[in-house]
Amino acid sequence: MPDTVAPRSVHIREGKIVSVTDYDDVADGGELVEVDDESVLMPGLVDTHVHVNSPGRTEWEGFRSATLAAAAGGVTTLIDMPLNSIPPTTTLAGFKAKLDDARNECFIDVGFWGGVVPGNTDELARMFSGGVVGFKCFLVPSGVDEFPHVTEEHLREAMPELTRIGALLIVHAELPGPIATSSVASADYQHFLASRPRAAENEAIALMIRLSREFNTRVHIVHLSSAEAVPMLREAQQAGVKITAETCPHYLHFAAEEIPAGATEFKCCPPIRERENREKLWQGLADGTIEMIVSDHSPCPGEMKLRDSGDFVNAWGGIASLQLRLPVAWTEARRRGFSLLDLAKWLCAAPATEVSLQPQKGAIAVGSDADFVIWNPVAQFTVAAERLHHRHKLTPYDGEVLNGVVEMTFLRGRKIYDDGQSASSQHGHLLLR
Ligand SMILES: [Zn+2]
Repeated sequence: MPDTVAPRSVHIREGKIVSVTDYDDVADGGELVEVDDESVLMPGLVDTHVHVNSPGRTEWEGFRSATLAAAAGGVTTLIDMPLNSIPPTTTLAGFKAKLDDARNECFIDVGFWGGVVPGNTDELARMFSGGVVGFKCFLVPSGVDEFPHVTEEHLREAMPELTRIGALLIVHAELPGPIATSSVASADYQHFLASRPRAAENEAIALMIRLSREFNTRVHIVHLSSAEAVPMLREAQQAGVKITAETCPHYLHFAAEEIPAGATEFKCCPPIRERENREKLWQGLADGTIEMIVSDHSPCPGEMKLRDSGDFVNAWGGIASLQLRLPVAWTEARRRGFSLLDLAKWLCAAPATEVSLQPQKGAIAVGSDADFVIWNPVAQFTVAAERLHHRHKLTPYDGEVLNGVVEMTFLRGRKIYDDGQSASSQHGHLLLR
């Protein structure tokens, strides 16, 4: 984990960090990049929760636009989710189709999650040997037919296999029971929020704690929104259950009370909750119960957000924020007195550790990849959605004033973003475990 902020000289060769020395220790020859007084050099961000939706739904995003947006946001490694692509990454053949689709398209390094769906237990070891970093499942309908959700019965079959092969299970933790299923249109955010109560998350997390304990499977809760579940997670962690959790910038920045009627760009599942809930999520980050902040970048074609009717019930759920995770997290973190070290832990080191990419990624250390973001924590900017690089520009961050301007991004020593200018060719690697 990151341990200091200090003036240093970082020396790199052939894409790796070879030494970290005093600030004035500059080698002869070689290229020198000097960071401005106000700016900092941080490990390139690692985002373990990104929906690229390709192949099959490339019109929703795709590897080229996603990784371009990531580079502009200081992200140098992303891990792609196994659903929304067709085929989904739930078989070895589906994984190979994904690799073929991503190859030569990526401006940053990209790894892949596999999926656990009913009946694919036999595929898990094959996919894991093939290089997926772990597996995702849903406890509620995922939104796409080709990636069905699992029940406790399915998990009782899959989890012993995951333990056997040593793979992490990441879980969309909402249970169907407490969720209202009516599809009657509504532009009222409070109505939508009430339809997906904290109980759906709390009950799902209680189930996953129980199963993780029983099967000794490593479990990670994705996009935690219900702060009510934090004490139960803390208690389980303290009792030795191998369970971790992440939350997302939108849960830490926005508040349900402030979401206008019909503003479906704010719709995601689980939903953005009340201000008071948000502050408790920050406390969960502060005490380490929640280990990281990842984007859950989940875009779709603009028309699927039903912005014209403003119907929260039937709009696609998902927030596009891949490029903005650093400034959103920092804007809110500094307001609450957190440090750059906290930020580097939440955005870089902890996500890299989750997918066993530390110390190759997420660290400024000898032997690590020379992946960096240079950014100015003091400078402010106003988000202009049309200038973001992801494919469909609708985002709830449009017009937000944020602190933290990304100046340059380096991938394995190569500059891939410089003051608004992106690299012209793709040098990202596909990361196979
Ligand atoms: Zn997601």
